[in-house]
Amino acid sequence: MPQNTAPRPICGHCDGFPTVAVTTGHTTPTGERETITADCPACHGTGHTIPARTRTRVGV
Ligand SMILES: [Zn+2]
Repeated sequence: MPQNTAPRPICGHCDGFPTVAVTTGHTTPTGERETITADCPACHGTGHTIPARTRTRVGV
């Protein structure tokens, strides 16, 4: 079975959900739950893993 090669693989750290809303437990003046957003530290909110950069070897 052929596998499709994803051009940008889903981040395994956040499973493709890089930004999550976390309730702070406080309510806003409008009565809504106050939330903060946190970006995935592994992909920095992109949801995709960044291919490991090949270290550039200069000279010998
Ligand atoms: Zn991630």
